[in-house]
Parts: sequence; structure tokens; C-alpha cells
Amino acid sequence: MSDSYDVAVIGEGVSGLTAAQKLAQAGARAATFEAQLFGGLIVNVNELEPSPAEHGVSGAEYAAGLMQANAELGVESVQEPVTAIRAVSGGFEIVTGETTRKARQVVVASGARLKRLGVPGEEEYEGRGVSQCADCDGPMYQGESAVVVGGGDSALQEALVLAQYCDAVHLVHRRDAYRARADLVEQVSKNPKIAAIFNATVTAISGAQMVQGVTLRHADGREEQLPCAGVFAYIGLVPNADMLPAEVQRDTAGCVKTNDELETGVRGVWAVGAVRSGYGGTLDDAIAEAERVAEAVTKRLAG
Ligand code: NAP
Repeated sequence: MSDSYDVAVIGEGVSGLTAAQKLAQAGARAATFEAQLFGGLIVNVNELEPSPAEHGVSGAEYAAGLMQANAELGVESVQEPVTAIRAVSGGFEIVTGETTRKARQVVVASGARLKRLGVPGEEEYEGRGVSQCADCDGPMYQGESAVVVGGGDSALQEALVLAQYCDAVHLVHRRDAYRARADLVEQVSKNPKIAAIFNATVTAISGAQMVQGVTLRHADGREEQLPCAGVFAYIGLVPNADMLPAEVQRDTAGCVKTNDELETGVRGVWAVGAVRSGYGGTLDDAIAEAERVAEAVTKRLAG
């Protein structure tokens, strides 16, 4: 493994893997850095929709294909969490828990993680009824009832997944209208297993060995115990941007600001995908941003 590259790509989600692939195809010596398993947020998606392949593929299969292609192109995959990126003469130092490597340019594609509810019982029952992956854990809730929290695309999509297994899915949303896509709202409202609970929040998760229920607080102040075996919160994302220098500007949600070329205020540091402010959120957006940044970085390396 070498210790210096033309480009360090932080994150092995779709945007990072695609950017590295395009950069390597253009002749750059690229490495991808990943703290966890490759694939990012899409690895938990059973069927990508719309599918990037002629035949439907899962998120994990798609990501594995990108990894394979990158390995064949000579992109190094560094399985270490990046803890800091520091400007030095001629480029940047990429600091991980174990080593420090150098790169002339940095593409930050570190994505985002699911936000937590932050209520009592959430940490305690993680893996014992509290889950963030309906596709992986759904089959364990066959015949049971589950609570899904949120009103965006993710919450509605995952409620539909859980309804394939559960007898009942309670979709708890803090307002009186969803922000999700109209087609998802329609599917959810037509699904007899999904019951909408508007104007309510989950304030606690309780149980014994496993989750047995949640406490709901309604907008009128009423509290209610709702029995359930599973709790799935899909209340948005938190960007993984802690490793970036303070000079890289963020928006109020903590997402990294870039210009139209996808470069941050720090020359030579670029950002794509879910970590970036203004990212559209779809797989097509991730791929399009990766292609754009690869082109811009290739030009910069040549210039
Ligand atoms: P999101 O769109 O940010 O929605 C988060 C939802 O959680 C909102 O309804 C929000 O309520 C609610 N919420 C936030 N904090 C909460 C809290 N503390 N307690 C209770 N509820 C809370 O997040 P997302 O659904 O994960 O989607 C993220 C992005 O990915 C979006 O751009 C989305 O379009 C995209 N996405 C796309 C697909 C696809 O198939 N193309 C699938 C999934 C996600 P309010 O509505 O009141 O703010």
C-alpha cells in the first residue's frame, strides 16, 4: 500500500466509489478510505428503484460491483477511519487512527448516518427491538407490530417494507402532513396494515428483555403507551463531516457547502453526496455528482 496519492476519496458509498472509478479511468492514482463496510447507506436497500442496471440489483450488489471495478483499476481501498484532513505543502495529509498519508486533492464523500431519536430506551434496546434497517430486520417481526417514526421518504418506504412482515405498523409523525413523495403517501394510505398517527412523538422506548412498547406524546399533551415489538426511526440524516478542517463551511444542518464545481471553500477539498449541502438525495444524484467532481478534479490535477 502506498502512502501518497493524487486523490484521496473519503467514503466508499456510491458517490465515493463512483468518483474514484472515474478518476482512475482518467489516469489519477486514487485511494478510497472507509471507516465501516463499503457501500454506505444503500447497502440496506433490497431493490434499488429506479435500478441503475438492466435487471434489478440490491444496494449491496451494486456497491460490490463498484468495489470490484475499482480494484481492477488499481484504486487502493484503505479500511481505516479518517480522523483529520490537514493542509500541507503540495496537498493534504489524510490522518487515520493508524497512519498519515498524503494526497494532492481530497474528495469528501463520507455520506451521512441516520439521526437518532435520543429518547430513553433507544440505546438500551438497540438490537433488541430498536433497529434502523427494516430490510434486514423486518423478517424478525413476522406477525408482530412495529412503530416507525418520521414523515419523509425513508419512513414511508420502510413502513411499507415492514408491512410485508408485521401484522400492524404504526407510522408516527410529529406533524399532520408527510413530506414524502406523493406515490409513497398514496401507497401508505392504501395499505391496511399501516396506521398513521399524526401530531405525536415517541418520548420513550420500554420493555423487558426485548422492546415491548413506546410512550407517545400527542400534540394536545396526552400521553399514551403503545405496545410494539420493533421501533424504527427514520427522522433524517446527520452528515459525517467531523474529520474536516474548521475552515470548510457547513450549513445549519452541518452539511458541507460547495460551489457549483463541488469544491469547498478550501481549494483542493471537494464534496459530493449526502455530506454535501444541496445534495438531491437520490442514487442518480450521487452518481451525477461523482462524475462531475471527477471531471473537475482531473482538470485541476492537469492544470
Ligand atoms: P427527511 O426527508 O429529512 O425526513 C425526516 C422526517 O423525520 C421528517 O418528516 C421530519 O419531520 C421527521 N423528524 C425529524 N426530526 C425528528 C424528531 N426529532 N422526531 C420526530 N420526527 C422527526 O429524511 P429521510 O426521509 O431520511 O430522507 C432523506 C433524503 O433521502 C431525502 O432527500 C429523501 O428524499 C431521500 N430519500 C430518497 C429515497 C428514494 O427512494 N429516492 C428514499 C429515502 C430517502 P418534519 O416533516 O416535521 O420536518
